[in-house]
Amino acid sequence: MSICFEDARSMILENVPTLGVERVPLLDACGRVLAEDVIAPWPMPLCDNSAMDGFAVRAADCKEGVTLRISGYIPAGGRPEPPVEVGCAVKIMTGAPIPPHCDAVVPFEETEEGGDSVRLTAPVSPRQHIRFHGEDVSPGDIIIPTAAVLRSPEISMLASMGMVMVPVHRRPRVAILSTGDELIELGQPPAEGKIINSNSFSLAAAVRECGGEPVMLGIALDTPEDHRRKLTEGLNCDALITSAGVSAGDRDFVRDVLADLGARQMFWKVAIKPGGPTAFSLKDQTPIFSLPGNPVSTMITFEQFVRPALLRMMGHQRVVRPFVKGVLKEDTKKKPGKVNFIRVRVTIEDGRYTASTAGDQHTGILRTMVCANGLAVLPREATFLPAGTEVDLQILRDEVTMLP
Ligand code: AMP
Ligand code: MG
Repeated sequence: MSICFEDARSMILENVPTLGVERVPLLDACGRVLAEDVIAPWPMPLCDNSAMDGFAVRAADCKEGVTLRISGYIPAGGRPEPPVEVGCAVKIMTGAPIPPHCDAVVPFEETEEGGDSVRLTAPVSPRQHIRFHGEDVSPGDIIIPTAAVLRSPEISMLASMGMVMVPVHRRPRVAILSTGDELIELGQPPAEGKIINSNSFSLAAAVRECGGEPVMLGIALDTPEDHRRKLTEGLNCDALITSAGVSAGDRDFVRDVLADLGARQMFWKVAIKPGGPTAFSLKDQTPIFSLPGNPVSTMITFEQFVRPALLRMMGHQRVVRPFVKGVLKEDTKKKPGKVNFIRVRVTIEDGRYTASTAGDQHTGILRTMVCANGLAVLPREATFLPAGTEVDLQILRDEVTMLP
């Protein structure tokens, strides 16, 4: 009996641990998930300061056309001196502190300067062009809440608040093991009957793309002993991904050896295509994803099961890529009983997402995966989806949502 797609993913997400907290230098926190609320230690701005290059004035003095005496100059980083007396203006640069008695800044563009005086050519309102103390952030505000994903704006805010080190969830070290006597390592010459171990690379790249740290364990030969040795090594990491050797063949040892090592199998076989033989187990708290070996199946099952799990381990709340609704461009047939993922090119036509096949859908065709920018999710019981049928589309590349 196989488990349904949604239950399989829920079971994984309910069972993967959220990793602990580490403090990292601010820039290394980019893309990571904040593990504690950050409270503002001081206000921002720290003091009233000028938003423009111009003149600090007393608004009450400033009828349009009036001429004021220039009584001082405050550069950015300067001191707020001298106080602005009646009938005077102080030349001030953007970011410079506002001097006492002053309640407005007149930009250069609205003045005519001559010697030690300046004429105002536009009306002046109190408070104009001043950034006020604490208007952005007050001390004690939660400026970034726990679980926020840190992007450039959050990093900017944390920098402004003096956060040299930032508490974030750890990145998982993810062991990657390929299995199969037919495999040779990248760099070895191709040979008949042999296949280059590409899965270790597609998986390591996918782990990296979602923020994890891949640990390459290489190839396990199709013997229980070699599996045992390499799987044992992999269990030292935060998560373990295997590829191939998980079907019902007489040389498929992954599940048996994991059971011998004390891992608890949570499911084996999911009602999806491709990727049916996927298994998920736990050794103590460590999740183990046993993916089928066919390179396309490996990538699609990583996308459906492993990526969300790794994101959850890193503290992310949103772990599944956003779906969009879109229409199929071609008539599409399938067998009932399994959710099918078909590799598609998503475009926007007449304001709607439209998915056309990215090529031959046989799982042996890697090129179709390279051409695809999305996966169309065909419902479990559907058998015939005529062109124009609306389905869920998983967008695999950001460029799609930015199409004109
Ligand atoms: P299996 O799941 O062991 O039956 O393997 C299914 C298919 O995937 C076979 O054609 C394998 O040769 C291929 N395959 C398995 N492992 C890898 C790998 N690491 N890299 C590329 N292809 C693989
Ligand atoms: Mg095999």
